[in-house]
Amino acid sequence: MQNPSNPSSNKLDREMGTRLPLTILVAEDNIINQKVVTNLLNRLGYKADIVSNGLEVLEAVQKQTYDLILMDIQMPEMGGEEATQSIRKTLPADLQPRIVALTANAMKGDRERFLESGMNDYISKPINIEDLVRVLSISQPVRKNTTNPEHADTMTPSAQNAVDPAVLLEFESLMGEDAHEMVVDLVDLYINNSPMLIEQMRRQITAQRLPELQRAAHTLKGNSFQLGANALGDICFTMEKLAKSGSIDGAADLLVQIEQEFQRVKQELENRYLSGT
Ligand code: MN
Repeated sequence: MQNPSNPSSNKLDREMGTRLPLTILVAEDNIINQKVVTNLLNRLGYKADIVSNGLEVLEAVQKQTYDLILMDIQMPEMGGEEATQSIRKTLPADLQPRIVALTANAMKGDRERFLESGMNDYISKPINIEDLVRVLSISQPVRKNTTNPEHADTMTPSAQNAVDPAVLLEFESLMGEDAHEMVVDLVDLYINNSPMLIEQMRRQITAQRLPELQRAAHTLKGNSFQLGANALGDICFTMEKLAKSGSIDGAADLLVQIEQEFQRVKQELENRYLSGT
């Protein structure tokens, strides 16, 4: 696995917020960190609401639908993990935000714990702009999620490409300079991140933890549609609905399909984006 240590291109894409509009909530108790995050977001064309503990997060999500919550872990009153668990339990599925942990000391095992609590990702503090751009670029407006399954509806997924190339090409054309690099990073992240989600699904099936299974399937579904892996997205969506219905019947078979389809997706993405130079 290569570790692309690109010289950080210090060009801030001030139009990002126009091209990819997102409603963002920042939950952070440290005032300096609040300033840093909101400044970075502003420079990328985003405005964010700010709260300083988990209880305020829960109030805020009742008042407004957020696409993305940047969530500090350590906060007074209620920390980020507890707030996330509560959001995942209480908000309807089609209004669920993407939640990204902000953490000062990510250690081995932390990422798993954050995912376990229902978070989608994390970035380290002090926050660097590239991490923030990555997190923003794989977020999407919450209401858009519901349109994906329809157009990707297909009876014979294995007869066609695992990945619709138009999806990432369009994404790339929206992102402006350095877009290709960003897409390559995204693909790399997806390929590295997905096996963890699949492994999580396996554990949740074994343990019969349906809400957690639903969440993992939901995350892989969203990520897959984001990259144009529509057939895989569809199977994950089926898994998500199954778990939501309270049943585990057929989940093991679906998991096999997910694993097989992911291998096809991985192969195609690697060939297209990660091979050669
Ligand atoms: Mn804190």
